[in-house]
Amino acid sequence: MLKVYNTLTKRIEEFEPLEDRLVKIYVCGPTVYDYTHVGHARTYIAFDVIVRYLRYKGYKVKYVVNITDIDDKIIRRARELNISPKELARKFEEEFFEDMKALGLIKADYYPRVTEHISDIIKVVRRLVEKGYAYVAGGSVYFDVTKFPDYGKLSGQTLEQIKAGARIEPDPNKRHPADFALWKKAKEGEPYWDSPWGPGRPGWHIECTVMSMKYLGEQIDIHGGGTDLIFPHHENEIAQSEAYSGKKPFVKYWLHAGYLMIKGEKMSKSLGNIIPVKDFLAKYEPDVLKLLVLSAHYRSPIDFSWEKAEQAKNSLERIKRAVERLRKVMTYERLHSENLSPKEKEIYERVNLLRQKFEEAMDDDFNTPKALAEIFEFISYINKKLDEDLVEGALARYAHDTLMELLNVLGLLQKFREAGVSGDVEPLIELLIKVRDDARKRKDWKTADYIREELRKLGVVLEDTPKGTIWKLAK
Ligand SMILES: [Zn+2]
Repeated sequence: MLKVYNTLTKRIEEFEPLEDRLVKIYVCGPTVYDYTHVGHARTYIAFDVIVRYLRYKGYKVKYVVNITDIDDKIIRRARELNISPKELARKFEEEFFEDMKALGLIKADYYPRVTEHISDIIKVVRRLVEKGYAYVAGGSVYFDVTKFPDYGKLSGQTLEQIKAGARIEPDPNKRHPADFALWKKAKEGEPYWDSPWGPGRPGWHIECTVMSMKYLGEQIDIHGGGTDLIFPHHENEIAQSEAYSGKKPFVKYWLHAGYLMIKGEKMSKSLGNIIPVKDFLAKYEPDVLKLLVLSAHYRSPIDFSWEKAEQAKNSLERIKRAVERLRKVMTYERLHSENLSPKEKEIYERVNLLRQKFEEAMDDDFNTPKALAEIFEFISYINKKLDEDLVEGALARYAHDTLMELLNVLGLLQKFREAGVSGDVEPLIELLIKVRDDARKRKDWKTADYIREELRKLGVVLEDTPKGTIWKLAK
């Protein structure tokens, strides 16, 4: 049974999606004004593994990541570079996709852009005004937090605390310091769209409410993002969404990925300590970053260092060597577990135990450090058995395939797949072997040799042993 930590309830809860076997997940995506750095990548790697594991568990997953392509930072940066905000946003959106692809992260089902949902946003803002949750002031529209009694339920902040902690408020239009803009009046020289309140552009928070509802419906299972988004972004999303739909809750499980720190500080552009994904990938392969990230629980902070990258690189090599060793001795015929010797049986059971332990770890709020520890423990074990020449043939392949399957749930070793037959072709090869066996029983050597020769041409090598025919791929 999968259990997840819910930021909303601050408890570990059993995971039960709203609809049977379907998981709707929305993750706050990038504001595309600069290169993706490894701190951002940490969040996307975390949710990549979460989505992969949900699929491994048999859930159908609908996954949305938004692209914030209009915002203060984009406008400012475009001005500095003397290009249009759109030009800037498209460039860094492309860079973002390239980085995600280089990291081998699975694609979301939708990557909606804010600028392509302006009319949807206006509709929702208008409805919030009509329902009395929002007010118009000076050409902008604000959400009135005092109208939403549940405000603060995610972050634990109360309106009194926010008011007391508010610095000098530069926006005189706001009635309460925690009120936030749903629609911002256009300033001179900024991009704008026409609206019932005059020319302007959407506030940041409303986009996620609108696009989440548009692609996934008014209630979803998982909403994710970095811990820094809990307040005010996600708090505001809840207020808008639940005020709009009148339904509760907007999100069943709120999941937040911890910070990536560098020398004790959060990696962020404002601190000037960022490492772009591109720079990291110029030094190491993508799996090194993944292994480094997954060595910590997704909710825990990670202290990034190049020493850790070096360690992750060594760990990755260790995994690859074990996989390669299994590949050298494995063959492809079907494993008959009932025919195994006691020593082989023990290995077979150990492989099954690996899967069980891996699932237990992942079921425990996606505990990837534990899951990786299980994998490394298994690698030590199987290396020992390989040293003793106790693993070979179909049993080696069983160990190999299980290991690869679990590594792939973590997004690892995707480019380390063997060249060779796909799973669909295997039953056909098995069938040909059976036909050949029948021919041999009839002493029809011509047919038997013909099948062996033709399979060899296709890269499949048959070998007759006292235990039966085994097969492998020609190297
Ligand atoms: Zn968001």
